[in-house]
Amino acid sequence: QEKVNRIRAQHRINVHGCDVPDPLCTFEELQSEYRLHSRILQNLNDAGLDSPTPIQMQAIPLMMHVNKDTSILTLCLGVCPTGSGKTLAFCLPLLSHLQQPANLGFRAVIISPTRELATQTYRELLRLSDGVGFRVHIIDKASLAAKKYGPQSSKKYDILVSTPNRVIYLLNQDPPALDLCSVEWLIVDESDKLFEEGKTGFREQLATIFLACSGPKVRRAFFSATCTPDVEQWCRLNLDNLVTVNIGHRNT
Ligand code: ADP
Ligand code: ADP
Ligand code: MG
Repeated sequence: QEKVNRIRAQHRINVHGCDVPDPLCTFEELQSEYRLHSRILQNLNDAGLDSPTPIQMQAIPLMMHVNKDTSILTLCLGVCPTGSGKTLAFCLPLLSHLQQPANLGFRAVIISPTRELATQTYRELLRLSDGVGFRVHIIDKASLAAKKYGPQSSKKYDILVSTPNRVIYLLNQDPPALDLCSVEWLIVDESDKLFEEGKTGFREQLATIFLACSGPKVRRAFFSATCTPDVEQWCRLNLDNLVTVNIGHRNT
């Protein structure tokens, strides 16, 4: 435990919550401890990603270990709030958790504040999972998506990346043009941006998305570059079993 505390202190990793697993020191541990597909590890190496960043060190094992109905809030503060590697911090455990493609419909949803960010995340997922066969989708045209993901679909998809508007649009069709009942992971990226003033509508959108993710094992993770009181307060009020990780400062 002393060793763990030293590693956390060294990387300025602060955790709050019960049963937080030890930080990950190498990506190889993902294979030995969590049965990450060897091809994904290879893709990581091919991309020149050798060792995890502080946020990845703690967020990855946390996402691998959480029980259902646990929520995670991850904040990157201090030195380098952006470019800290948050995308990989949630994409890797997501892929590891899903293990392999399945025809169950979307099992993971990632909400991004802008189309650009959604596209970046989508590309990252494709690059990471190259050769594994996960079906990653991004909603381009809501009208086309309605046909594609609707009740008649064959459910041959695994991961959805989207801005909130498009998901809401599909959920609000009658009958809903998007089925999220198989979702096991709901990720909200850049949640500070989504909760920003002027986008108060996001709280309602999030409530709609939460309701639609009606499956028995939904886990949620919020990633944020800054610790705005908005996000933290909302999470504390609305999420049970909240575990928080922050990098770069101590707020105890
Ligand atoms: P954030 O979302 O925290 O702003 P990103 O996930 O966009 O950061 O990552 C920023 C850059 O860092 C990307 O180019 C990404 O490929 C790179 N990166 C992420 N993780 C690592 C790592 N473990 N080692 C080296 N580079 C990394
Ligand atoms: P985003 O904001 O996610 O980039 P858009 O606003 O471009 O998405 O929406 C894409 C499509 O979905 C458009 O055809 C738009 O008409 C429809 N759409 C999005 N949100 C709504 C909404 N709240 N009500 C009705 N239609 C919507
Ligand atoms: Mg990011």
